[in-house]
Amino acid sequence: MAITCEDLLQYLSDYIDQELDEELTEVAQEHLATCHNCRVVLDSTQQTIFLFREHGPRQIPAQRRQRLFDQLQAAFLAKEPG
Ligand SMILES: [Zn+2]
Repeated sequence: MAITCEDLLQYLSDYIDQELDEELTEVAQEHLATCHNCRVVLDSTQQTIFLFREHGPRQIPAQRRQRLFDQLQAAFLAKEPG
């Protein structure tokens, strides 16, 4: 089973939170192993989340986090049409 970059981005939030089921985690890892672009997105997303966590005891509010993912997704998809 192969997924597209767009699929990966949809799973990314859950992947980082380790809330994906085993099968999807494997699929996501498989994609990340072969897709440089998605690894870059994953890295910057994780760094942003870690920064937020370092500066406060609370997690990023869901709404703000969703916006972050939306921005990443928009930037990413703009770079890779199709
Ligand atoms: Zn990808």
